[in-house]
Amino acid sequence: MQGPVEQETTNGTIVVVEDDRNIAELVDLYLRNAGFRVLQASDARRGLELVAQERPCLVMFDIGLPGPLDGLQACRELRKTSDVPVVMVTARDDELDRVLGLELGADDYITKPFSPRELVARVRAILRRSENGRRPADEPMTVGSVVVDTLRREVAASGAIVQLTAREFDLLAHFAENPGIVFSRQQLLDAVWGSGWYGDERTVDVHVRQLRRKLGDALPLATVWGVGYRCD
Ligand code: CA
Repeated sequence: MQGPVEQETTNGTIVVVEDDRNIAELVDLYLRNAGFRVLQASDARRGLELVAQERPCLVMFDIGLPGPLDGLQACRELRKTSDVPVVMVTARDDELDRVLGLELGADDYITKPFSPRELVARVRAILRRSENGRRPADEPMTVGSVVVDTLRREVAASGAIVQLTAREFDLLAHFAENPGIVFSRQQLLDAVWGSGWYGDERTVDVHVRQLRRKLGDALPLATVWGVGYRCD
């Protein structure tokens, strides 16, 4: 359990640009509990100032913001000077369509209402991806007590090397790169098997079963009923 009061900030600073105070407070709480320092702005201008001053590790923009710039314009503005990871927060599906239609350079999108778990998982996954972009490629990833070495294509569970097929390895690596995110079977097919692959979603279940059989309790791979799979 996280302590209820001030704790050491170890995970970096996040700027949250959100005009809805209730949502801003919730996001603030979730992210602080996850160990981040959170700075709030309720309009885009102030948000961009904060980003320039504080050099955060991540920025969240609500789309509907008061003032001359909305979240989309603010993201575009930010991209002229910074490649800090950006999460766009959308209130409705049609807003999401607009975001996806524009090439803003945002790193991820989250739709209200979102759960604390989803928010924190997305933020961690983005930071991990951006760190992975900078870290030397030979540094392995860890999920549960499984170590995934993408350079050597080697997997170790509790210290012992485990033999996986190429596809099992790719599926495991995808989970390791995106901890805490729930994927549908179709999303996993698209990401791991590729969009040119025509097959049954049960293929995913078969591979998940193999990963569980080979890695056992070392791998925290959960079935999310009615949705798909999540690895923490
Ligand atoms: Ca808003």
